[in-house]
Amino acid sequence: MMRVGQIVNTLLLREFVSAFFLAMRYFFGAKPTINYPFEKGPVSPRFRGEHALRRYPNGEERCIACKLCEAICPAQAITIEAGPRQNDGTRRTVRYDIDMVKCIYCGFCQEACPVDAIVEGPNFEFATETREELYFSKEKLLSNGDRWEREIAANLAADAPYR
Ligand code: SF4
Ligand code: SF4
Repeated sequence: MMRVGQIVNTLLLREFVSAFFLAMRYFFGAKPTINYPFEKGPVSPRFRGEHALRRYPNGEERCIACKLCEAICPAQAITIEAGPRQNDGTRRTVRYDIDMVKCIYCGFCQEACPVDAIVEGPNFEFATETREELYFSKEKLLSNGDRWEREIAANLAADAPYR
């Protein structure tokens, strides 16, 4: 009976020592996790995040109100109204809304746009406290474009050889 007890104790001690060294190896090794939100992982140039409407470098809106994005959206999340612009009569959107609650982030709107106006940018941190805040107006989308233009342009350039 004594012998069995000693064998069990020896086995338990070996298990403990092996687990201890395993734990120490991970404790002092490179961390596979990051300290979000203070650290962030890499984001692919093709990441489909928060939508943005882009402008040309001279400040002109890219969107020509062709409504291709509205037509292709499988979630019917985009609503566009178009009309002639006052100063030059060119066709422009007078309303461009995206209901982000409906959006499934498929990227079809971006793919359909002939002038790279509507894009899904790299921003993934746009959680809100109310549903209403996820109803994006044209002003909100244009301000997203102004804010993220540098990153969006770099991502589009990086992905251009594969398009
Ligand atoms: S990503 Fe897809 S679902 Fe979302 S607005 Fe664009 S086309 Fe519609
Ligand atoms: S965002 Fe692009 S696809 Fe949509 S209406 Fe404007 S130009 Fe057309």
